[in-house]
Amino acid sequence: MLIDSFDQEHLWHPYSALGSSVPVLKVARADGVLLQLEDGPQLIDGMASWWCAIHGYNHPLLNQAAIDQLGRMSHVMFGGLTHEPAIALGKLLLEIVPKPLDAIFYADSGSVSVEVALKMAIQYQAARGLPRKNNIATTRSGYHGDTWNAMSVCDPVNGMHGLFGASLPSRCFVPAPQTPFDGEWDAADIAPVEQLFAERSDELAAFIIEPIVQGAGGMRFYHPQYLRELARLCREHAVLLICDEIATGFGRSGRLFGCEHAGVTPDILCIGKALTGGYMTMAATITRRDIADVIAAGEPGVFMHGPTFMGNPLACAVALASTQLLLSQDWQGRVASIEQTLHARLAPARALPQVADVRVLGAIGVIELTASLRLDRIQQRMLEQGIWIRPFGRLVYVMPPYVINDAQLQQLCDGMVALVASLEEEDMRA
Ligand code: PMP
Repeated sequence: MLIDSFDQEHLWHPYSALGSSVPVLKVARADGVLLQLEDGPQLIDGMASWWCAIHGYNHPLLNQAAIDQLGRMSHVMFGGLTHEPAIALGKLLLEIVPKPLDAIFYADSGSVSVEVALKMAIQYQAARGLPRKNNIATTRSGYHGDTWNAMSVCDPVNGMHGLFGASLPSRCFVPAPQTPFDGEWDAADIAPVEQLFAERSDELAAFIIEPIVQGAGGMRFYHPQYLRELARLCREHAVLLICDEIATGFGRSGRLFGCEHAGVTPDILCIGKALTGGYMTMAATITRRDIADVIAAGEPGVFMHGPTFMGNPLACAVALASTQLLLSQDWQGRVASIEQTLHARLAPARALPQVADVRVLGAIGVIELTASLRLDRIQQRMLEQGIWIRPFGRLVYVMPPYVINDAQLQQLCDGMVALVASLEEEDMRA
C-alpha cells in the first residue's frame, strides 16, 4: 500500500504516534457511502466519519448550500454582528430540540460545546448566589471530548486521567449505568447518584451524561429509566442536567435525540458532529431562557465565552441544509431498517469464541470482543472485505451514513463478522 512519507513524518493523526508504521489510507474522494482510496480500492464507509456524515459524502444539496453561502460570505465575526444562516438554523433547531430549550450558543466543536455547557452551569450557580456549587458529576464509561474540562469528565480509567493525572480538575464519578437498554430496570442502578447527591449536591453545578448511548467510553446502551431517575434527582437537588448528544443527535439511536427515549429534557443540551452532515466542524450548546436570564443577572452580566469562529456562516448554512434534508425524509424508517439489518447480519458473530457481546441500537452496531484488537493486524483484511471500520479496544462497531443501501450494509456487516471470525491470538492484546 502506498504510504505518503510526508504524512508519515510530519502529520499527526488522532490518537497516533508521529512516524507510526501503521499506514493511514489516502482518500482521493468520497461519494455517498463510498471512500475511494488513491491507487486503491473503494471502501464502504461504516463510520460516517465518526458519527457525522449521515447523508453520505459529496451530497449535491449540501454542496450547493456551501457554494451559495460562499458567494455571500464564508465568515464574519459573531461579536456585534449576526446573519441569516445563524438565525435560520437557530429557528429550525428550536423546532426540533426537546422543549422548552430555547437559548442557543454556537460552538466550534463538540469538545468546545461541552466546555461551554460546563461554564454555563457554573456561571448559573454562581449567579444564583451559590458559588460553592462549582463541581461536575458524571458516570464512568463516559466520553465528552479532548479539551481540558471535557477530559476531566471522561471515564477516569479508559479516558486520559492516568496520563494527565492531577493536572485535571477532580470530578465526582458514579458507576456507569448497568441496566441494558432493553433489560428489566433495576432501581439499584441509580442508588449511587442518590447517595452522591445526598452527600455532595451543595458542591455540584451539573451532572453531564451521554443520553442512552455511551459512545467512545464503551459503546454501551443503557436503560431510559436511568435517565428519567437522574433527571428527577437533578431537579430535586438543583443540579443542572447536561445531555451530551454530540454523538447521538440527529437520529442515530432511532430517535431524533437520545433523551427522547426517556422523555427527558435536559437543562443544557450539546449537539455537534451530524449537525453539519459531517461537512465541517460546528456544535451548539442549547439551554433555557430562564437559565440564560439568571446568568445575565449575575456578575459580570454576560456569559463568558466567545470563540473566533462562533456562528460561522458557512457552517450554519450547511447545518441548515443538512437538518432540513434529514427532516424532509423518512429518516426514522431508514434508521429502523438499518437497525433490522444490523441485528440480522451481526447476530452470527455471537457464536464466535472471540466475541463477548453483540448489540445494536438504531443505526449503531457493535461487536464486543473478549480482548483488545491490534489495528495494525487487521487493516489488510478490512481492505480485502472492501469496508472501512475503525475498531478501538475491544470494540468493532459501525454507525454508517443513513444513505447506505441494503446491499452495501449487508457487505459491511458480513465483512465485519468475517474479519472478527478471522482473528487469532496474535491479533489481540491480552
Ligand atoms: N462528546 C461526545 C459524546 C463525543 O462522541 C465526542 C466526539 N467523539 C465529543 C463530545 C467531542 O467532540 P469533538 O471531537 O467534535 O470535539
